[in-house]
Amino acid sequence: MEMIREYADWFYLIGAVLFILTLRGLSGPKTAIQGNRYGMIAMAIAVLTTFFVADNPVVWMIVGAMVAGAVVGIARARTVPMTQMPETVALMHSLVGLAAVLIAIAAIIHNNKLIELDPDLLAANGVNFHEMSRVHLFELFVGCFVGAITFTASVFAYGKLAAKKWAKTISGAWVKPVQAIIFIAMLVFGFMFFSTGNMTAFWAMTALALVFGWVWIAPVGGGDMPVVVSLLNSFSGWAAAGIGFTLENNMLIVAGSLVGSSGAILSYIMCKAMNRSIINVLFGGAMGGTAAPTAGAGEQVQRNHRSGSADDAGFLMSNADSVVIVPGYGMAQGRAQNAVKELANILKEQGVTVRFAIHPVAGRMPGHMNVLLAEADVPYEDILEMDEINSDFPATDVVLVIGANDVVNPAAKDDPTSPIYGMPILEAHKARTIMVIKRSMATGYAGLDNDLFYNDKTMMIFGDAKKVVEDMTKAINGTGH
Ligand code: NDP
Repeated sequence: MEMIREYADWFYLIGAVLFILTLRGLSGPKTAIQGNRYGMIAMAIAVLTTFFVADNPVVWMIVGAMVAGAVVGIARARTVPMTQMPETVALMHSLVGLAAVLIAIAAIIHNNKLIELDPDLLAANGVNFHEMSRVHLFELFVGCFVGAITFTASVFAYGKLAAKKWAKTISGAWVKPVQAIIFIAMLVFGFMFFSTGNMTAFWAMTALALVFGWVWIAPVGGGDMPVVVSLLNSFSGWAAAGIGFTLENNMLIVAGSLVGSSGAILSYIMCKAMNRSIINVLFGGAMGGTAAPTAGAGEQVQRNHRSGSADDAGFLMSNADSVVIVPGYGMAQGRAQNAVKELANILKEQGVTVRFAIHPVAGRMPGHMNVLLAEADVPYEDILEMDEINSDFPATDVVLVIGANDVVNPAAKDDPTSPIYGMPILEAHKARTIMVIKRSMATGYAGLDNDLFYNDKTMMIFGDAKKVVEDMTKAINGTGH
């Protein structure tokens, strides 16, 4: 035990390196499992070391909390369907925020080794601890208010994604001023606490931060929640890092900073891939505008498209040399991933080269398509990112778009008036033949018409993704190749 105390910083250093390796591993599907293993080892080292370095730990309480947490966590992990992953992640972030708030409160109440603010001044303000430095007050102030905002904002994001009745979107001219007033009042009380140590100011700041988290996120549209969840992930990391300074725990500072920065980078990548700014996502709703671009939906002109049957499509694909499958939200919605894998296998057996092209924001959460295809055991080497596959489309015989719309909309490249102009897309329109499976000519998430569907090279195959793909497979089987 003494040895662990003595070498605690070394153990933390090993943990920190393993956390970095975790992130590195998680950046690719092939290395993700190993990345997860590193993460588990790092977390075990972090928890155990902290357990041994703590002053007079209340063992039964810590072990009890860990067991309870593990039971709930394992049960949830075993039962959660893939489709409920986004809200589960949001709920987990809320717990990190709550933990930051509770630790801040505990640190203050417990009169930790906090130093040097004028004891008379503290006494005059009714503060019952004698040693409190400004820098610690500042860390507590930041950790606590960021944690409180993360907590209620994440609970709202969870409710919204899980379609709970209580998670009502709010809108109107009053929203922004109210947000601003609460935010400023929160900062004023936080500053009071920071400069005088006044406990009433601390409680007021915490309460206002809790309210602010809710009213800040409540105007954001449901479709933008994944970006918000990613941003809250980042916040939860910064809150943990802030509290790490208070507790003088290097591990918490490093791990919190890693979570904070990786969440921020992911939010940036998502916004870029959606051609949106983070300000527009976070405050678009509050400004009274629509959160997502919706132009074009009203001005439908009658245009001609060509439709075909699953049998025709199956026949064409089985005679192609190369097929690229572009999955989108509709594949997830129709739970068609296993049927798609079957189709790919059958085509491969016919000697066709089959690959999958993944857009960074296809679906409704980052990595949505990758997760579904991995669940269906599609080999990783068949799955290509947008930058890897785009130059191959002109030489591709058939591109099969399954329930994707915005991520293959050529307007993003050709039409400067389009709300999604500038968004990078999968250049499916450059393939020799294009097949699109969807249920109707309806628009996708961005509410925009899509020229791809009217392209001379395009065949629309209407129907539910799973049913159509299964019919294609049957048709190919029936060709007797
Ligand atoms: P889209 O939402 O643009 O289009 C999906 C299409 O799937 C629809 O046009 C719909 O057409 C069709 N569809 C729905 N259900 C089925 C079904 N059961 N069977 C067959 N087709 C179906 O999806 P994309 O994946 O192309 O684009 C994702 C969009 O979501 C982007 O605009 C992105 O910015 C946004 N977004 C993504 C996030 C992420 O993290 N991935 C986060 C937030 C937003 P029909 O109704 O005619 O069947």
